[in-house]
Amino acid sequence: CGIVGVVGSNQAAPVIFGALRRLEYRGYDSAGIATLVDGRIERRRAAGKLDHLAALLERMPLAGVTGIGHTRWATHGAPTENNAHPHGTARVSVVHNGIIENFEELRRELEAAGQVFTTETDSETIAQMVDFHLARGLSPRDAAFATLRRLEGAYALAMIFAGHDGLVIGARHGAPLVVGYGEKEMFLGSDSLALAPLTRRIAYMDDGDWVVVTPEGAEFFDASGERVARDIRVTALIA
Ligand code: GLU
Repeated sequence: CGIVGVVGSNQAAPVIFGALRRLEYRGYDSAGIATLVDGRIERRRAAGKLDHLAALLERMPLAGVTGIGHTRWATHGAPTENNAHPHGTARVSVVHNGIIENFEELRRELEAAGQVFTTETDSETIAQMVDFHLARGLSPRDAAFATLRRLEGAYALAMIFAGHDGLVIGARHGAPLVVGYGEKEMFLGSDSLALAPLTRRIAYMDDGDWVVVTPEGAEFFDASGERVARDIRVTALIA
């Protein structure tokens, strides 16, 4: 029930984990983190408490400066490690909060086109559709936009792409997502509280917005793909 994204120069996994802790209050049944290591997607996931993910990360640390994290409240698919986010393929990794209402139709379509699903979640449909487009040569942002246009339901999501260090794409539609501005480091989070110790400079996305985040900043787009401006606000200090 929480989303985090980090892109910059510091090790991403500890930063993401700290932000997931601050999202624990929303409730969750499993959690996971994915980062880019030498351009390849690596992930750690665990059912149950964040302590389980912490223990796993201690045994098998996750390097990388670009990453995403998730606390899941299962709606489709049991709260197992295999259904825990991030979901994806060798090309793309996605975290999603909410419900994709038309996932069955999309999944059938993608399976008919040769995509191989490995979970019971509605969320994996997003990753498989992005993967489908990437495999056909679309850029990450074109693949993301082509996918977002097909999604029905409520979602906040964040994704990273193999071979694209320094890039996280986020989107929101009926679920919250904010963008945080650091020093040569940028963040995505379900709320400003998640990002509070990292930055107080926050841009709130309008419903239907999606955003391309790099260490230099963020480019916002509306649901029709038009470039839009979103103000950076300085949030009150939270003790
Ligand atoms: N519907 C998704 C799932 O069951 C996301 C749930 C959530 O918001 O955490 O995996």
